[in-house]
Amino acid sequence: MEARRRSSTKPVQSLKPTKTVSVDEDLTKASDALPLPLHLSNAVFFTLFFSAVYFLLSNWREKIRTSTPLSVVTYSEIIAILAFVASFIYLLGFFGIDFVQSLILRPQTEVWNSEDDDEVADVLLRKEDARKVPCGQALNCSLPPLPPPAPIVTVQKVLDEKPVTVLTEEDEEIIKSVVAGTTPSYSLESKLGDCKRAAAIRREALQRLTGKSLEGLPLDGFDYESILGQCCEMPVGYVQIPVGIAGPLLINGREYSVPMATTEGCLVASTNRGCKAIHLSGGATSTLLRDGMTRAPVVRFGTAKRAADLKLYLEDPDNFDTLAVVFNRSSRFGRLQGIKCAIAGKNLYLRFTCTTGDAMGMNMVSKGVQNVLDFLQTDFPDMDVMGISGNFCSDKKPAAVNWIEGRGKSVVCEAIIKGDIVRKVLKTTVESLVELNMLKNLTGSAMAGALGGFNAHASNIVTAVYIATGQDPAQNVESSHCITMMEAVNDGQDLHISVTMPSIEVGTVGGGTQLASQSACLNLLGVKGASKESAGANSRMLATVVAGAVLAGELSLMSALAAGQLVKSHMKYNRSNKDVSKASS
Ligand code: ADP
Repeated sequence: MEARRRSSTKPVQSLKPTKTVSVDEDLTKASDALPLPLHLSNAVFFTLFFSAVYFLLSNWREKIRTSTPLSVVTYSEIIAILAFVASFIYLLGFFGIDFVQSLILRPQTEVWNSEDDDEVADVLLRKEDARKVPCGQALNCSLPPLPPPAPIVTVQKVLDEKPVTVLTEEDEEIIKSVVAGTTPSYSLESKLGDCKRAAAIRREALQRLTGKSLEGLPLDGFDYESILGQCCEMPVGYVQIPVGIAGPLLINGREYSVPMATTEGCLVASTNRGCKAIHLSGGATSTLLRDGMTRAPVVRFGTAKRAADLKLYLEDPDNFDTLAVVFNRSSRFGRLQGIKCAIAGKNLYLRFTCTTGDAMGMNMVSKGVQNVLDFLQTDFPDMDVMGISGNFCSDKKPAAVNWIEGRGKSVVCEAIIKGDIVRKVLKTTVESLVELNMLKNLTGSAMAGALGGFNAHASNIVTAVYIATGQDPAQNVESSHCITMMEAVNDGQDLHISVTMPSIEVGTVGGGTQLASQSACLNLLGVKGASKESAGANSRMLATVVAGAVLAGELSLMSALAAGQLVKSHMKYNRSNKDVSKASS
């Protein structure tokens, strides 16, 4: 067991190194022991090496020509041999070790370690809805600890170690006035013109007002200017969420390292195992079916007849071009795709759909909708706009309209997992997976009256990737709509698995995507910012990655559940005289 625990650290160590600066690298390098700067030492030893080689070869050639035995060695030859050996050892140590390491530490599929999967499968059996023991406990943390690794300091850590914010006497006066209520807390940024100082003062005032400590909620190490007027008001610090990496996830012939921000133990490990099964089976194929963000205002008329008049007008194809010109004025990326209307008496819900480039697009579509509503007032002066959003959109609520019509990006992702990979990596069988999928994800969800919830845990993966990449995590509600299908193919040997997700709402510009940490995660996926090739290509690629990661997560958790069931069935029907709990431990 200890050997397994040790081996489980291997993939992490052997992954392609992220750019971190270790203390050893930074402060005390091996080259510091040399009397000369590194480049001069290298030059000296190179010269020594080649001079010695040249001298010895020319001497020996002369000896061969004059028929002098090679064993007769002069003093100068001894010195040359010593110089050759010394410089050879130096050069081997300097360049040879790096070369050998680069051969040994190969990442990608070789990082997979099948022994780790046993642990993941065991632990996953206890997961999903109700874990009885914390995952860390399930992993038995009482094992003897590994020897402490050399301390690693990332660039971020170095930043964190800057002196913490110190409040001045002037700040003390402002804190007192915030506590007294004479200075509104929300006005600090505009009054001071320094977002970090505003946050520090607000934080201190809050602690005094509430009598509660905020120790543990960091203040330093964050760029408060970057969130002003865009991401968060009245900040007093920031919450840290660890980011794990699942992958490589092979989709459409390309590998992705998927960042997942989560505090749910085993989630990344589970998704990682799914990625491995997909990779070893040749990868997944992810296809974008539709791309359009929606907004649906609600308008009211004096009669249902007038509401119906507007519905007919909006849905008449002859009027579409005019409406599109009005709508598209809002942005060079927002392009109207269609309007679908639903009537409830005198009230009309107008569901506009448009492309939004690389932005998730809520602001963009809202601006276009406002343009059209203003335009309609001319022909429909009796139209009362009750709300720019009438919930027929539908944003951040489970709704059939998104499940059926789609919202954001609609994606289907599939893979064929080879039978032996199902057995060796996922520790189950194709037959068990297909049966469990039918009973759980299809029938079970139908029995529960699910809306878009025909899956095992799509929202786990969606939310973790959303938080890491700066998406709106509240949109996990509809973004996690997913139906997972499984079928035995190739004469029952292999497994065809697919996830169909009609409303993945993602962007790579705007909102939280431009913040430093989130932007780094998008960069890791190769989808940071606006696509230079074609507007929207980055956000569409991100949507296909989200679906691929969900596929991996579904595969892994379903396998863990199926394997658990298999063990129990096996024990019940084949070895009923043995104690199941002892056998499975
Ligand atoms: P959202 O509409 O998702 O809420 P924003 O309101 O921040 O996001 O809109 C995105 C902003 O980024 C818009 O002002 C838009 O003009 C700009 N932008 C720049 N490049 C792109 C791009 N490739 N795709 C979409 N928007 C872009």
